[in-house]
Amino acid sequence: MQERDAAPAPTLLAVFAHPDDESYLCGGTLARYAAAGAQVVLVCATRGEARELATPDLATAETLPAVREAELRAAAALLGIAAVHLLDYRDGTLMDVPFLEGVERVAAIMAASPPTIVLTFGPEGVYGHPDHVAVHRWTKEAFLYGGQGPGAGGQEPPGRVTAPPPLAPVGERLYYCAPPRSWYRAVAARCRARGVHDRYGPRADVLGVPDELVTTRLDVAPYAAQRLAAIRAHATQLPANHPFRTLPGADLLDLFSSEWFTRAWPPAARHAPPESDLLAGGPSSAE
Ligand SMILES: [Zn+2]
Repeated sequence: MQERDAAPAPTLLAVFAHPDDESYLCGGTLARYAAAGAQVVLVCATRGEARELATPDLATAETLPAVREAELRAAAALLGIAAVHLLDYRDGTLMDVPFLEGVERVAAIMAASPPTIVLTFGPEGVYGHPDHVAVHRWTKEAFLYGGQGPGAGGQEPPGRVTAPPPLAPVGERLYYCAPPRSWYRAVAARCRARGVHDRYGPRADVLGVPDELVTTRLDVAPYAAQRLAAIRAHATQLPANHPFRTLPGADLLDLFSSEWFTRAWPPAARHAPPESDLLAGGPSSAE
C-alpha cells in the first residue's frame, strides 16, 4: 500500500449480521488493512442474542444482548476497527425486515462513510443462514445503487415492468466472504488428527462456498493471532469443546493464515489469475 501514501486512506466497510461474523469470516483481512492505514468500519445488524449461550457463567438471557455487544466491541478493538454501527435489529428476524428499509439503513452508512471496498456475505450466506442472506441482499443493493435502486422511494409502479436504473456503485469494489469447502474440510481433518470434537466434519460438504467461486485469497498469516483473539473475544458463542478453543495454537494459526473472497463488483474476468490484495489495481483490472 506504499504507493497509496499520497492518496486519502481507503475505507473498508464490512457489513454483517451477528457479532462474530466479522472475526470468523474476515478478521485477518480487517486487521491487515487497518494496520496498513485503511479506515475499517463495521456494520452489524443484530446483537446476536438468539444464538445459544455457550457459557452460562458469562451472561443471562437478560444480559446477553449487552454482553454480546461488548464482545463485538472488544473484538473490533483487537482488529483495529475504527467504528462499529449496530442496526439494532433482533437476531433471527432480518428476513422480516422490509427489503428497502434494510437497504436504506446500509446505504445511509455508506453515504456517511463512503467505502472504497465493501465486504459482506455471498448469496449463499456461507451456510444458508437467513439473516446472512438478508444482509447480503441489502448490502449488494445499497452498493450497486446507493439506496436509489428499483423501488426506492416507492417510485416503482406496482405490477409494471420497467428497466432498472443504471448502476451507480458507491465504492470501487464489492467482495463476498467465501470461506471455501476445502477450508472446512481442513478444520475437520485437524480435529480428527488431534482427537478433538469435530464440529464441522459432519457438515463439511455443505458449509462454505465451492472452491471454484473464490477469486481472491489473502495471506493474513501476520494477523492470524489477532483473528484468533477476536474470535475468542466472542466468549459466549464459543463452547469449551469448540475446536477454536481445543486445537493446538499452531494448528489454529495455520488454519487462520488465509481468507477467501469472491469479487462481485467489478465482476472478475473469466480465468483471471487469483487476486491477493483487495486494493491492488482498480476497477479497470476487470477488463
Ligand atoms: Zn452470523
